[in-house]
Amino acid sequence: MKKAFFITSFCLLGLVSITSSCSGSKTENKEQKAAEQYQCPMKCTEEISDKPGKCSVCEMDLEKINNS
Ligand SMILES: [Zn+2]
Repeated sequence: MKKAFFITSFCLLGLVSITSSCSGSKTENKEQKAAEQYQCPMKCTEEISDKPGKCSVCEMDLEKINNS
């Protein structure tokens, strides 16, 4: 009886860790794939940069934006 319980919990643990590691790596890949985008916090221009920098209009530091 006890043995069966241990086997079941081990199976469940394995299943949970496999599922969580799978979904974890999936989201990681997604984040790595999505390019970082930066835009002026005041949005003076529609201009979006793929790297940090300064706004050409107000010279403020560009803010990182999320597309999702
Ligand atoms: Zn600006």
